[in-house]
Amino acid sequence: MSKPTTPAESAQLKDIVAHAKEYGFVFQSSEIYDGLAAVYDYGPNGVELKNNLKRLWWETMTQLHGNVVGIDAAIFMAPQTWEASGHVAGFNDPLIDNLDSKKRYRADVLIEEKAAEYENAGDPARGAALTAEMGRLLTANDLAGVRQLIIDEKILCPVSGTGNWTEVRQFNLMFSTQGSAVDSEAPPVYLRPETAQGIFVNFLNVQKSARMKIPFGIAQIGKAFRNEIVARQFIFRMREFEQMEMQFFVRPGTEGEWYDTWKAARRRFHEALGLPAAKLRFHDHDKLAHYAKAAVDIEYEFPFGFKEMEGIHSRGDFDLTQHQNLSRKKQQYFDNDLDPATGKPYGNYVPYVVETSVGADRLFLATLCEAFQEETITEGEGDAQTTKQRTFLKLHPAVAPIKAAIFPLVRKDGMPEKAQQIFDELRFDFRLVIEDKDAIGKRYTRQDLIGTPFCIVVDGQTLEDDTVTVRHRDTREQTRMPIGALRAYIGEAVSFKTVFAKL
Ligand code: ATP
Repeated sequence: MSKPTTPAESAQLKDIVAHAKEYGFVFQSSEIYDGLAAVYDYGPNGVELKNNLKRLWWETMTQLHGNVVGIDAAIFMAPQTWEASGHVAGFNDPLIDNLDSKKRYRADVLIEEKAAEYENAGDPARGAALTAEMGRLLTANDLAGVRQLIIDEKILCPVSGTGNWTEVRQFNLMFSTQGSAVDSEAPPVYLRPETAQGIFVNFLNVQKSARMKIPFGIAQIGKAFRNEIVARQFIFRMREFEQMEMQFFVRPGTEGEWYDTWKAARRRFHEALGLPAAKLRFHDHDKLAHYAKAAVDIEYEFPFGFKEMEGIHSRGDFDLTQHQNLSRKKQQYFDNDLDPATGKPYGNYVPYVVETSVGADRLFLATLCEAFQEETITEGEGDAQTTKQRTFLKLHPAVAPIKAAIFPLVRKDGMPEKAQQIFDELRFDFRLVIEDKDAIGKRYTRQDLIGTPFCIVVDGQTLEDDTVTVRHRDTREQTRMPIGALRAYIGEAVSFKTVFAKL
């Protein structure tokens, strides 16, 4: 459950949003036209960070597990897909409008915020009872009941301060477009609201072509689209976003163990990446989605409170059975392992699914929030001592956009040439930059702001003995080492293996 944002917390998010823009991580989409709500673009440093996060997830799934393979399915799918999945009928959010402010809200979010107020005021039991009641009403699709709950709880519009509410209505979150240029009666083509269905409809293609044996997983990274009612909190809730999903197909009856296994594994991933254990927590769902038998969120404590970053869902055979029924194509697997109870093969069945689903953008935001550091540092000695503020991004070196910056101390005496030589030697291994403008201190600052873990300085001594200083972003300490040692030194720090080793 989230706690309401305090002014200090929203100021921190504001600083992060401003930082993300100024240093080329995230821009508002089509900003010159005042932007498009809840749509964002990634800049030069942002795309590197995001790609590194995606590659880390991808390799964690498909390289560390011999039984997980990937696919890249299209965004458009046959319209029946979304009938079968339940999205046409049920992918709704309950919305409510305030008649005075004309502002629109998600009814469930208003209630959750009220519950969080109780929790913060020291009455978690009342908060839990409120969310449980909401879950019950939503499951029963009792929208009048949800409205009454808002009224009974005296929930007011934060803008108008009144409780003058409309009815609660369900709003479908799927975007649609016309798929056929000639047939205006043709059903709409949806922009997929999740990547998972591309995996389900390819279940047999993948199982047969890659000769997978249960248990096995299919992983995918791709865009998803949702017409979110209230889009707030920067890239936390977007209308176009990216998901990293893995569907793990298991023998019915074993889903409980696999659910626990993946739940633990996914939490370890976030901790290995540097998100502190104290800022991560599990949150069991109060209201289960139409497909789910069990569902838990991994929440991260964003500056605006604990919020979902990843979902782990035990989906049973819901999706494959639905596709089997609507397509009239069997979605079964023949399991020739022997059932110890009967001594015979388990035979044909529709597998059960445990899903892990994380938003690339939310992982990016969590990573950025965690990395954003402000500290006061002291420089110089005695009377010459000064203090100043330092902002830096303490990104895990494995995901930092640039791994090392190379600085010739001055733009003469052969130092620029030496810097270029180092760049040429290392550029097949790492993403590097050469910076020769401004004083060294300013150059360090620029790299700190984008999270570059190492700055390599070429100075007079380099020309004599082929050694350089390596300055460390987090400690600001410098180490002198031979140029020949750089590849191994940087390589070790930025390798994905540093993350994998903790999984
Ligand atoms: P929420 O409750 O925040 O709307 P959800 O429970 O609908 O999220 P899922 O359907 O479980 O989310 O989607 C899996 C993951 O996809 C989420 O954990 C989140 O990281 C990401 N995600 C979902 N919706 C968005 C969005 N609008 N913008 C960015 N990421 C999203």
